[in-house]
Amino acid sequence: MNYVYLALGSNIGKRDAYLRRALQTIDQLHETKVKRVSSIYETEPIGYTDQDAFLNMVAYIETTYSSSTLLEELQRIEKQLDRKRNIHWGPRTLDLDILLYNQENIQTEELKVPHPRMLERGFVMIPLYELQPDLQFPHTNEHFSTIMEERINHEGVYVWKRNNGAGEFGLFEN
Ligand code: ATP
Ligand code: MG
Ligand code: MG
Repeated sequence: MNYVYLALGSNIGKRDAYLRRALQTIDQLHETKVKRVSSIYETEPIGYTDQDAFLNMVAYIETTYSSSTLLEELQRIEKQLDRKRNIHWGPRTLDLDILLYNQENIQTEELKVPHPRMLERGFVMIPLYELQPDLQFPHTNEHFSTIMEERINHEGVYVWKRNNGAGEFGLFEN
């Protein structure tokens, strides 16, 4: 079994519906289970800022897929859920990124894990910290709490829907 953290993001259309459908589809992959999800956060775009706010979240999954097969499956799901590839870091219905795959360091043309920009992104690290505050990173010896205090800018990242533990794939209906 492989232990994987994924980042999900959407900033076009019914954003929470894209996140929900992505999680349902991932959960239905062969020998893959979505075990836990973070709250949903709304985040101001960074990099290419002339676009609408994102919804972002992190999911912990367990899968028997290899990292390369998992990436292919995630890209298939992005496409199935209306992802068009155009502007780099531009608007998208769905972005599915692999943050961590076990404790592996993967450096291929198609796949870099740990995700090379994760440690500088509030919209990734804040939901990840909510999900697993004692997580160890393969690419730094810093404590997660130290990274959060010293490296992460918390501005522009707000809880949009709190995960209250109920009905995770309804995405936290009360
Ligand atoms: P960023 O990687 O900065 O979050 P992005 O998610 O917008 O940017 P995409 O357009 O979704 O980038 O993907 C571009 C390419 O990144 C993909 O074709 C994929 O091969 C590659 N890639 C490398 N490492 C990863 C990873 N850990 N997870 C997902 N895709 C990755
Ligand atoms: Mg991304
Ligand atoms: Mg991506």
